[in-house]
Amino acid sequence: MGDQHVIALDLGGTKLAAGVLDREGGVIRRAQHTTDTSSEDALLAQIERSIDELLDEQVVALGVGIPSLIDQRAGRAGASVNVPLENVDLRDRLAERFGLPLALENDANAAALAEHRFGAGRGAEHMVLLTLGTGIGGGLVLNGELYRGAVGAAAELGHMVIDVDGPRCQGLCPGFGHLEALASGTAARRLAEEVAEAQPDGELARARASGGIVTGVLAAELASAGHGDALEVMERIGFHLGIGIASYVNIFNPELVVIGGGFAQAGDLLLDPARRVVAERALPLARDVVRIVPAELGPEAGLIGSGLVGFEAFDAAPVR
Ligand SMILES: [Zn+2]
Repeated sequence: MGDQHVIALDLGGTKLAAGVLDREGGVIRRAQHTTDTSSEDALLAQIERSIDELLDEQVVALGVGIPSLIDQRAGRAGASVNVPLENVDLRDRLAERFGLPLALENDANAAALAEHRFGAGRGAEHMVLLTLGTGIGGGLVLNGELYRGAVGAAAELGHMVIDVDGPRCQGLCPGFGHLEALASGTAARRLAEEVAEAQPDGELARARASGGIVTGVLAAELASAGHGDALEVMERIGFHLGIGIASYVNIFNPELVVIGGGFAQAGDLLLDPARRVVAERALPLARDVVRIVPAELGPEAGLIGSGLVGFEAFDAAPVR
């Protein structure tokens, strides 16, 4: 008998990554597709096809990471971000179709598991993960285990209020002044627009005038090159990030706060202002032990974490 493998999926709004993984997080084979967002049926069919094309007799379970609120009682994808999945009993549907143990997991939770096992969080007992992108995803590892809450909907850390009078949050969220609305890549883009407007001689204004969309990532690149107006954007966003992290530090007393996601490539330009706020505003003891560090696994974290929950499902399944 050969080694046991799982098929892992990491579904995002633009791409669907699939892979065959071993227990050490190694990716043995992989495939990538442009996410079919035309309809729910089309997307479900694409998910099934992407599993089908990787299946072989060594595959013992499936792990599926989705950008959704998940009700783990029913294995149901509730509301989703950027993909047409709403109130779908995805776990039953795929388990029936493939006859294998299967776990569904929120994508940021999966990334937290992966960083904890194989990345920046190795050895930590208590870890907070934030993924900065269009939105802000969150994951919590407490007492060495992923914390899922009562039904699986926990750790939506991007949806903590940091300004009660702040702007409306994004997408499906009915809240105002959430961290996601003030420290995501989207928030950086909005702020960069404002700064470009206010400083017409600055580098952000120049980038915009030459036809570029001033994204959060572009603002980060201009800040890395030392341009003052872009640095101002990173400083402000990093401040908001630090306000949020200071509360997580007070509540959870983690050893580590791990920052990943596309916009996190801003690195210390973003993390240093956040570290300063935490040092100034979080409670003693907790603030003295926490370290705020970049993630290590990059865009692979979601896929690797989905593989880990696939193995969890296999290990928990009754012996057949
Ligand atoms: Zn929100």
